[in-house]
Amino acid sequence: MSRRTKLYEGKAKILYEGPEPGTLIQYFKDDATAFNAEKKGTINGKGVINNRISEHVFTRLGHIGIPTHFIRRLNMREQLIRQVDIIPLEVVVRNVAAGSISKRLGIEEGEPLPHTLIEYYYKDDALGDPLVAEEHIACFNWASNDEMHDISSMAIRINDFLCGMFAAIDIRLIDFKLEFGRLYDGDYSRVILADEISPDGCRLWDMATGEKLDKDRFRRDLGGEEEAYREVARRLGLLGAEDNGPGEVFDLSHARSRLRGPPPLKK
Ligand code: C5P
Repeated sequence: MSRRTKLYEGKAKILYEGPEPGTLIQYFKDDATAFNAEKKGTINGKGVINNRISEHVFTRLGHIGIPTHFIRRLNMREQLIRQVDIIPLEVVVRNVAAGSISKRLGIEEGEPLPHTLIEYYYKDDALGDPLVAEEHIACFNWASNDEMHDISSMAIRINDFLCGMFAAIDIRLIDFKLEFGRLYDGDYSRVILADEISPDGCRLWDMATGEKLDKDRFRRDLGGEEEAYREVARRLGLLGAEDNGPGEVFDLSHARSRLRGPPPLKK
């Protein structure tokens, strides 16, 4: 078997050359990083779960007309995607204050925002992905005005859809991060949704208990991250009893003491 060409290795994923021109294979790792890779670890089985969750979310977003890079899932850890030129912005959509906005502006975590906020961060690890204004994006030509119009309207539609999708399984969508890329067609390009949508890049809180079902469990040393990721997949209907190991039925109450963990960090 010939070796594949690795094109890029990120913190949580690897991109390989795809089988046809214009395609790539996206491989999901179990590696987890936080605070610009200052904290490193692994979450067992995360890659498998994120591959399934992201497949599910991108497929459903495709059904409501959001163009995405997703073509199909290939196996447990890999999916076939369209090759795009990534726009160097992390697009963060926030419904409820948490994380960096709480820290930066002194807003208590869990405080609903008066309206949905979209923020842009310039993707540059060496600079620590700084928050930027639309003026910076235009000034440095990271994306055109037309592209920013498409990005912001897609971000709002994605948020509306995901809030409903998660509310239906008793999960509150606090915030999440999106990435977009340019897909070229001759001289023209259009913006499509790229990267992944999974508990790595979303804050997901249980509606009834407020338990965190996302990467904050890893960032804040709360424990129970594997169980939390599996719980999201299970509620989305992506895990059958056969996925829970031989003769084992997944039970959140069994993981609950680990899931609760210590009280939230003081900001
Ligand atoms: O850290 P902050 O509060 O700005 O994160 C907002 C949202 O964006 C969170 O859901 C977080 O998981 C996600 N995010 C991400 N990758 C980053 C920064 C933030 O997925 N580099």
